[in-house]
Amino acid sequence: NTPLHELDPDVAAAVDAELRRQQSTLEMIASENFAPVAVMEAQGSVLTNKYAEGYPGRRYYGGCEHVDVVEQIAIDRIKELFGAEHANVQPHSGAQANAAAMFALLKPGDTIMGLNLAHGGHLTHGMKINFSGKLYNVVAYHVDDATGQVDMAEVERLAKESRPKLIVAGWSAYPRQLDFAAFRRIADEVGAYLMVDMAHFAGLVAAGLHPNPVPHAHVVTTTTHKTLGGPRGGVILCTAELAKKINSAVFPGQQGGPLEHVIAAKAVSFKVAASEEFKERQQRTVEGAKIIAERLVQDDVGGAGVSVLSGGTDVHLVLVDLRHSELDGQQAEDRLHEVGITVNRNAVPNDPRPPMVTSGLRIGTPALATRGFRAEDFREVADVIAEVLKPSYDAQALKGRVSALAAKHPLYPGL
Ligand code: PLP
Repeated sequence: NTPLHELDPDVAAAVDAELRRQQSTLEMIASENFAPVAVMEAQGSVLTNKYAEGYPGRRYYGGCEHVDVVEQIAIDRIKELFGAEHANVQPHSGAQANAAAMFALLKPGDTIMGLNLAHGGHLTHGMKINFSGKLYNVVAYHVDDATGQVDMAEVERLAKESRPKLIVAGWSAYPRQLDFAAFRRIADEVGAYLMVDMAHFAGLVAAGLHPNPVPHAHVVTTTTHKTLGGPRGGVILCTAELAKKINSAVFPGQQGGPLEHVIAAKAVSFKVAASEEFKERQQRTVEGAKIIAERLVQDDVGGAGVSVLSGGTDVHLVLVDLRHSELDGQQAEDRLHEVGITVNRNAVPNDPRPPMVTSGLRIGTPALATRGFRAEDFREVADVIAEVLKPSYDAQALKGRVSALAAKHPLYPGL
């Protein structure tokens, strides 16, 4: 029972340093969040020792009576949360959930449609060197240049031309809501499955702040660690009709033993996600993103060529458009890092700069909302970001303002 600090001081020191980094800086990567201590406790539990190939009540290993309880709780809670007929909580990650869902519904060589990566799609929606781009024939759709929103006329035209077997609706970098009913109508017209990847906005759906894709889609995939605020992992929701196909695509199709310690942590996070406190947190998340978007389209930053894709946001993130700024995505990310704000640079549609540099930033509010940030705090954050994006800025002064915000909302006090 030797504790980590004694057994392996090198790893312990890096973990401690990461905790201090999370506590002392402002985490604004849109796909990140802070899991509750109870979630981390479940994830760090003895369930990590257990093999449990199969599903609750039908395992290929003995001694599964307790992990069966845990996995069934996770399944029941997420079905209830999103109104789904069936749930598989075993995917190790969002990418694995998508791989399994496609494996269940498609054969290699089938045509799929997904949002182009540079327009906000995810790697698993058909990027060339991802499994999805290698195994399937990909027809990508795009956002409209004028509105910054998904061009549904193009989706319909491409679907009719290419007759895909599957249409993926979902995104990693998109500031608006998708029209799931329109996607389903198009999918039905061409005989395609509709798969919605709600990894980014699942927490907003759970809180009732975003339309729920479950009634519209054949399959819905998600991660559990973004707006949903749980442990790193994936989930697949589907109709009762597809349940068997999906289960066998996850195990034995794609994975071996499920991570029952992570499934326990998922179960805890689903309980949290059903609470009033969670709903209030998601409201602050969306409110914070709107405050930042509004601040960045104001004239004094606009003078530096800074704008916001689609002109605003309906979700938990803002996409800063630097195509007309002297500052590129890499420089902007570095400047924000220097003052203690962590974001990621992001390609924007028709980006004139190379993918390692980019002309955009993706800025998200879920982690700060989890820390307790309210409108007045987000106004201060927005002001600091706006200052950093101007041609000249006072790094030392801004660093002080970031530290003050971090101190006002302590993260994991006592850890
Ligand atoms: N789907 C979407 C829309 C995502 O944004 C991501 C991750 O960023 C994933 C899937 C993949 O999730 P993971 O990193 O857990 O594999």
